[in-house]
Amino acid sequence: MTQYEVVIGLETHIQLNTESKIFCSCSADSWDDAPNTNICPVCSGLPGVLPVLNEGAVRKAATLAAAMGAELQPVSHFDRKNYFYPDLPKGYQISQYDMPLATGGHMDLPTANGTRRIGIHKLHLEEDAGKTVNRADGARLIDFNRCGVPLVEMVTGPDLRSADEAAQYLIRLRQLLRWLGISEADMEKGHLRADANVSIRPVGSDVLNTKTEIKNVNSIDSLRSAIEAEIERQTRAVEAGETIQPWTLGWDENTGTLSKMRSKETEADYRYFREPDLLPLVLDDARRAEIIDALPELPLARRQRFIEQVGLPEYDADILSGERALSYYFETAASAYGGDIKRVSNWLMNDVLAMLNESGQTADQLKLTPQYFADVLKLMDSGAVNTPTGKSLLLKVQASGQAPADIVQAEGLAQVSDETELRKIAEDIIATNPDNVASFRAGKEALMGWFVGQLMQRTKGKADPKAAARILNELLRG
Ligand code: ZN
Ligand code: MN
Repeated sequence: MTQYEVVIGLETHIQLNTESKIFCSCSADSWDDAPNTNICPVCSGLPGVLPVLNEGAVRKAATLAAAMGAELQPVSHFDRKNYFYPDLPKGYQISQYDMPLATGGHMDLPTANGTRRIGIHKLHLEEDAGKTVNRADGARLIDFNRCGVPLVEMVTGPDLRSADEAAQYLIRLRQLLRWLGISEADMEKGHLRADANVSIRPVGSDVLNTKTEIKNVNSIDSLRSAIEAEIERQTRAVEAGETIQPWTLGWDENTGTLSKMRSKETEADYRYFREPDLLPLVLDDARRAEIIDALPELPLARRQRFIEQVGLPEYDADILSGERALSYYFETAASAYGGDIKRVSNWLMNDVLAMLNESGQTADQLKLTPQYFADVLKLMDSGAVNTPTGKSLLLKVQASGQAPADIVQAEGLAQVSDETELRKIAEDIIATNPDNVASFRAGKEALMGWFVGQLMQRTKGKADPKAAARILNELLRG
């Protein structure tokens, strides 16, 4: 039986989180607005109006291009992409065609067998179309609110080799978009949409066979399932001697199946021509250099630094570089703490992440600041509080926003490690529980846990557990 290799390219549309739309001053975020309330003559395509390019959208798109290592073009052009569809009021979409904002570039995917580099073909700016809502009674309603929302369209080369790799690409892209602060990248809200081009070929061949395009995928899991279903379908068809047709397929979320939407348009169908109402988009040398210089350290570089310089295991590095605010929190806490960095990472990944998950906050919103977090670790290290108290202290700081040392003092949480005091309490426990003492001395050593528990109870959990165990051992065995 022939073994097949899968060839996948992804075309993503990314909604930029600008204040206003790309060619008018309507809000770019109308998610909660009533239909057709966030429109103006420009974005609803009335005759005689002129588009004005939103500089913020250019900046954000160029920042993404720079982060992908793409080549920002000194001059790019806007074009009209003509097609007739009810949610496109002008009858054309303003897009970029043969001279896009940026070309080339790549996205690196860390895998178990090293890094996979996925090439980017081109990256361009365009406007979004409206939304067609199919009502249950058969009516089709059009909402123009989304018309003119700025999008980046980014197309990869045919470099992805499995459904899982395609999913990884989207996960890394979403991470990057949020890191750069240029898109909320919420797939459920359509901020990040992916169409997948899928074909198969016998292993060893380097021919690009006829591909099909999968549309309507609105989550990473759906993308994975849809591509897997299409690989299976194509394999069965080829095995049966059929020819793959260049269909556009829709993914039905509810049934988990693909269905043919239409035969794919070819580019000639769109009759592209230059948008006569907009000037060429010029990014001179200084502007391009400034955009590249302004890039922050990117997530994969930070992940690599956490592994190589900080010495974190890959697992920790992945989580702690997953989100920009979290990685900043980690680095700030680590430098405030100054001690064993693995200790910071362990406590952060257990206690602080739990806090973030529960509150739905991002790391920069916590009342438990990186400094306070480091302070609590130091209080435990110095023996000023014991570990269980340290754990609850983290929660108390988060709840109140007060400094850890102040809470320790106000609530009398300091660890009791005064030998004389602990010994006095231990002697009292032994004197008042002769039965358990006798059992222990007769060989029921498991009772040690009970004695330590009693001592912790009498000190309201504040005893130094090591000192407590040592003193009780001496007294019971002595
Ligand atoms: Zn408008
Ligand atoms: Mn597009």
